[in-house]
Amino acid sequence: MRPELSDYKHLSAGKVREIYEIDTDTLLMVATDRISAFDYSLDPEIPDKGKILTLTSAFFFDLLAEFPNHLAGPLDDGRIPEDVLGGAFVVKRLDMVPFECVVRGYLTGSGKKEYDATGSVCGVELPDGLVEASKLPEPIFTPATKAEQGDHDVNVSYDYMAREIGEDLASRLRETTLAIYTKAAQYAESRGIILADTKFEFGLDDNGTLVLADEVLTPDSSRYWPADSYKEGEAQPSFDKQYVRNWLSQKSGWDADSGTPPPELPGSVVEATRERYIEAYERLSGKKFI
Ligand code: ATP
Ligand code: MG
Repeated sequence: MRPELSDYKHLSAGKVREIYEIDTDTLLMVATDRISAFDYSLDPEIPDKGKILTLTSAFFFDLLAEFPNHLAGPLDDGRIPEDVLGGAFVVKRLDMVPFECVVRGYLTGSGKKEYDATGSVCGVELPDGLVEASKLPEPIFTPATKAEQGDHDVNVSYDYMAREIGEDLASRLRETTLAIYTKAAQYAESRGIILADTKFEFGLDDNGTLVLADEVLTPDSSRYWPADSYKEGEAQPSFDKQYVRNWLSQKSGWDADSGTPPPELPGSVVEATRERYIEAYERLSGKKFI
């Protein structure tokens, strides 16, 4: 008999995930069908999104098996309640690093904004003349502080991060983040997809080992672009949440800076978003989503 969700203590609700305690060392991380953009939870949910993202993360944890990760059981682990089976992981509880480890191989989003204003991103100086979607000379590590719920994450410099958590840990984070990005981006390229940027979260286990946690390389934590239509200087048609972001910022009439919550997503946008999540998973993994 599988346990019920109510058998576990509910620890926290993020914009997308719900965390439960299985025991002192072990958590249940449930990916819901909620979708967030511009740091708002959108309405309605995207059917199957939690399962698609869980499969995507599982695929990449496996591909990146040389990097220690937080998984503490298989996708059908007996500790996972029936209700959330397929959309949840059993993970080792870690002491989380309070920074998002962002890595960018291409210039877009908040990186592009910062570059336009200052010529650098998170303290990393970049050459002149870069435009939307330019490939960077080399991937850069651009950490951000984890915002409290409802707040925007804030880009910070490596030096700031090193002052906060120590040079030793900061340099391990930067090195590991860049190494994982390099491996994942090469893999994605072999599937005809550009991994423009992505975000990892790490934690430390009891031995002080740096462990890859949270979700990895999902369309929620990454920008994926189809390689065959890549064109520098333009907003890329992407496989990911960018589709919803673009709809909200360009088609819906909503102003992201207005302070008012975004409008409800029409059915066609919900369906198109779901298809993009499925397409991203299938193209990246080479597997079918059933
Ligand atoms: P949001 O992503 O909506 O801005 P959030 O990051 O707080 O907010 P979620 O991403 O939904 O919320 O939930 C995941 C939470 O679990 C994050 O706070 C993340 O740092 C934390 N987490 C991930 N893996 C582990 C782990 N192995 N041990 C402890 N905490 C973890
Ligand atoms: Mg999160």
